[in-house]
Amino acid sequence: MYEQGLKELEIISKAAGNRIDYVQGGGGNTSVKLNNELMAVKASGFKLNQITPTEGFVVVNYKNIKTYYEGVDLSQDVDFEKESVEVAKKNVVEMEGLKVLRPSVEAGFHSIMKKYVIHTHPVYANILCCSKEGATVVEKIFGGREYAYLWIPYINPGFCLTLKIKEEIDLCIKRCGKFPEVVFMENHGLIVTADDYQRAVELHEEVNNLIRGNFKLQEAYPVINLEKVDDNTFRSKTEYIVNYFSEKDISRDFFDKAALYPDQLVYLNSSLSVNGSENKLNINSKTGELLYKTNYSEAMTIEETLLGYLYVVNGIEKCGLDIKVMSEREIEFIRNWESEAYRKSLVKDLTK
Ligand SMILES: [Zn+2]
Repeated sequence: MYEQGLKELEIISKAAGNRIDYVQGGGGNTSVKLNNELMAVKASGFKLNQITPTEGFVVVNYKNIKTYYEGVDLSQDVDFEKESVEVAKKNVVEMEGLKVLRPSVEAGFHSIMKKYVIHTHPVYANILCCSKEGATVVEKIFGGREYAYLWIPYINPGFCLTLKIKEEIDLCIKRCGKFPEVVFMENHGLIVTADDYQRAVELHEEVNNLIRGNFKLQEAYPVINLEKVDDNTFRSKTEYIVNYFSEKDISRDFFDKAALYPDQLVYLNSSLSVNGSENKLNINSKTGELLYKTNYSEAMTIEETLLGYLYVVNGIEKCGLDIKVMSEREIEFIRNWESEAYRKSLVKDLTK
């Protein structure tokens, strides 16, 4: 059942998930609406490129999730964050031969979009999403195109983000008669949506290429290289990263002061020490050596996140933009967010 749709889910997931400049570690998610009620969406704790027609996704009744967001009454004294997660969980549909998994925490916004959705954290889009001039530059690049786009100022992920996107979609349709196919989320990432899967893949590619073209970011994205010391010790040989740290005498503050997006907090900041030795990632600021003390899979997740982060920080400077960081309150929300704690607890199991 639904063979075609699930095959397409695999195609769009691999198109984005095989590129570490588009998603890092377990970040990003995709979905396909299989009919008027059912949607296959990435499961929490899987990497995009692990999705196949039989694995890495869950089927939910998106119609019910959508209806929930349409009818939500904000005047009620309810923990909407919790309630919306419950709604998504409750609407998981058991399918024969499929493990029951937890849907991505972002299943909410997938439910309210077109048939195919690709959500990523591309370093190119994030140069704009994490800079103060981002909205203006996006308008300059994407203002006159045949497709409509949205710029969503930073808002807590989960319930609030979905509701905000829904509101902006409705306004966009009213304003220009078009369903927005591209969504830029400040301090977060990119969503593209289309009713044709090839169009979704192409549009995702096009958006990132237009940004690269605009800033002449044409050189190939750095390649990751981890040297195995033993099963639980790895040394970074990623040139881009090693060079970065051998030239700069950084302190732990470097990461805390420039919090760009939630995944940086979840996968990177919580796992590293500068000039310590017992964390998952230990950076020696004097020698520039980066030593991982964890399994290969988690070391890769952290290394990909670190590379993406440094590329964005560098890119913002190179493009002459000013960095826009998350506020203390926004950071606090992520730290205390149950969904993120759950996502993080799965990192160890992510295998390539
Ligand atoms: Zn995201």
